[in-house]
Amino acid sequence: MSTVTGTQTRHDEHGRYPEATTIEDFRRNLACVQARIAAACYRAGRDPAEVRLLPVSKTKPEVSLRLAHAAGCRMLGENKVQEAYRKWETLQHLTDLRWSVIGHLQTNKAKLMARFATEFQALDSLRLAEALDRRLQSEGRSLDVFVQVNTSGEASKYGLSPEDVPAFVQALPAFSALRVRGLMTLALFSSEAERVRRCFILLRGLRAQLRQSAPAGIALDELSMGMSGDFEIAIEEGATVVRVGQAIFGARPMPDSHYWPGESSTEAS
Ligand SMILES: *Cc1c(COP(=O)(O)O)cnc(C)c1O
Repeated sequence: MSTVTGTQTRHDEHGRYPEATTIEDFRRNLACVQARIAAACYRAGRDPAEVRLLPVSKTKPEVSLRLAHAAGCRMLGENKVQEAYRKWETLQHLTDLRWSVIGHLQTNKAKLMARFATEFQALDSLRLAEALDRRLQSEGRSLDVFVQVNTSGEASKYGLSPEDVPAFVQALPAFSALRVRGLMTLALFSSEAERVRRCFILLRGLRAQLRQSAPAGIALDELSMGMSGDFEIAIEEGATVVRVGQAIFGARPMPDSHYWPGESSTEAS
């Protein structure tokens, strides 16, 4: 039973985050999100140093990414690999800026990913693991990966079913260029905090279960869960990475159905 039942989702605030257009806007938004992270940690009795903020820059123009970098961001999350690659090419002069791809990847795009990404959070098939490993070996690179889990049961969400994850993880040591870091999920998109929370609890429980049986070299320390509308709940349930876009960069013009095919624009019914 949670002691913090008062926490609400903030999915209704999405349209209200104003566009960040100056370094000061980014500094202020980052400080505000960090303060919300710290407050959620405090409620949950956690150390804020355990929670990494991954700013998500998808759909935002390169000028915004430059400002985010100037305000201190050193890793950015992008949903689509082509968009991420294009931005990486344009911003290569920012040599300390690293890239995390957080959305579904088609196997035929593994080559693109292997060239530039530091982290991939949506691993969900062995075919993809194999393709990534092969491309990474030939580039002489490695990649931090998270296994994406579908915790909401929605057909529109990518990710493995929870029951398929243990066997999947057992197979991963074969791919030596992939450094398995943990699990990632997108919760149900809902204003009902307790339904959202259940997704996060499921992911944490799955990690505990996997830790009993994980093969040597597979650490599974990380839980990537929570976005602008629900990251405080995710932190209360153990998130070690929160992926936050709109609360830092400003609202996106497109509904989320644009990024996650098949999803309704505001609420899961
Ligand atoms: C866009 C996105 C986020 C961030 O969502 P915001 O509402 O902008 O905070 C997090 N995770 C994934 C997988 C995303 O595609």
